[in-house]
Amino acid sequence: MNQLHVFFLPYLAYGHMIPTLETAKLFASRGVQTTMIVTPGFVEPVEKARKSGFNIGIHVMKFPPEESGLPHGITSDQISDDMLPKFLKSMDLLQEPLEKLLEEFRPDCLVADVLFPWATDAAAKFDIPRLIFHGTSFLALCASEHMRIYKPYKNVSSDLEEFVLPNLPHQLKFTGTQVPNFYREEIENELTKLLTKIKESEIRSYGVLFNSFYELEPDYADHYRKVLRRNSWHIGPLLLCNKGGEDYKAQRGKESAIDEHECLEWLNSKEPNSVVYICFGSIATFTTKQLHEIAKGLEISSQKFIWVVRKGKNQKEDGKENWLPEGFEERTKDKGLIIRGWAPQLLILENKATGVFVTHCGWNSMLEGVCSGVPMVTWPVFAEQFYNEKLVTDVLRIGVSVGNKQYKRKESEGIEREAIDMAIRRIMEGEEGSEMRSRAQEYKEKARKAVEEDGSSYTDLSALLEELRAYRLGVNTTKVN
Ligand code: UDP
Repeated sequence: MNQLHVFFLPYLAYGHMIPTLETAKLFASRGVQTTMIVTPGFVEPVEKARKSGFNIGIHVMKFPPEESGLPHGITSDQISDDMLPKFLKSMDLLQEPLEKLLEEFRPDCLVADVLFPWATDAAAKFDIPRLIFHGTSFLALCASEHMRIYKPYKNVSSDLEEFVLPNLPHQLKFTGTQVPNFYREEIENELTKLLTKIKESEIRSYGVLFNSFYELEPDYADHYRKVLRRNSWHIGPLLLCNKGGEDYKAQRGKESAIDEHECLEWLNSKEPNSVVYICFGSIATFTTKQLHEIAKGLEISSQKFIWVVRKGKNQKEDGKENWLPEGFEERTKDKGLIIRGWAPQLLILENKATGVFVTHCGWNSMLEGVCSGVPMVTWPVFAEQFYNEKLVTDVLRIGVSVGNKQYKRKESEGIEREAIDMAIRRIMEGEEGSEMRSRAQEYKEKARKAVEEDGSSYTDLSALLEELRAYRLGVNTTKVN
């Protein structure tokens, strides 16, 4: 039998599950037999993909295990801080059922999320190459590796003093406050232990799959491969891979909090590039004070806007909706649309009326911005978002920073209305903004080309599949990058 069989093991969160499923769909469309290994909370998106014609197998692993004491069907976004240790332990307990499946089906490759470091050893037991699915950029991985190795934040006199990340292309500058605390932890704890395991498993795995494309970050793709000497393949942007992204849109797993037709009608009634779209992804939330500043910033900018505020802490904390300045919605009703909850982000970004994307720099959002050719105002909040910001502002020069220097939302409530207004206007008005817009349009085009037959992402996936076939035959062709 010549057909390759690949297992996919996504992490238990939609932000990880959806791109992993898209990867499985991409592999399936290239003639690979694919099987998704999921927990009960994530069966539905796979079933939808199967119904829409993708030949993807599915195995469901029981989760959480009874002994964990966690509620049935729980997913990572429902995990509170006090449940975290139990949740991490429960994820480790998935190793045994996974090994049973690997032993029974003997796939040619296991693609497992980066958050399952034990998957490398599980696969090795059956001589199966394990690939890591990493939902981030080459730049972010290179930067975090250099931060770990060189610890440049130790050489400055204060946490707010800028330093250059050594030996990386483009002389990227950061402050100590933008580096996650767990990197800087001198004493070992559960999180630092997990990070060490993740790093080790990355080094020992067969390689890393990136939802990125070469032309977006060639210097960092080269650095990752040639300097850090890691095997990797860039196969994205996934949202452009499967039937022009239609399925990607349909399978986000969440209902929009606004009627999509109504939203489109609103956008269609606006001039091209005239609307500011603000959304901070699926996790980040802000305090009432910061939301007031955003509202005021929008008001003084006089721009039209769509602002996504996720229902949750802000409303609950206050009991009523005092998270908006008094009369704001009334005053801006002709200019603005507030979406309370989940927004149809891709539809909004792709609409020609959308002129700037104010984003927290989550990797999925950033790729969606790039693929839509929309310049960005960057407002990173945590994790690798501060690294991704630099790609937009310093490397691609398709956006400007709002100026947040503080990691984590509790400390990051300091962006004032003037800074928000200024960043938005730098893009919406004037020469600098239109240069950024035309560069953004060029990257949109490059993204489209990357996934076409003979494009850089298409051919990198072909090379990977070739290599896996050779591996099965016992021929060692591991590429030397
Ligand atoms: N998203 C969406 N509507 C929302 C908020 C988020 O469709 O109201 C989608 C967004 O398009 C992206 C994903 O959720 O695909 C968020 O992923 P990202 O990596 O940007 O950030 P995270 O949520 O992981 O912080």
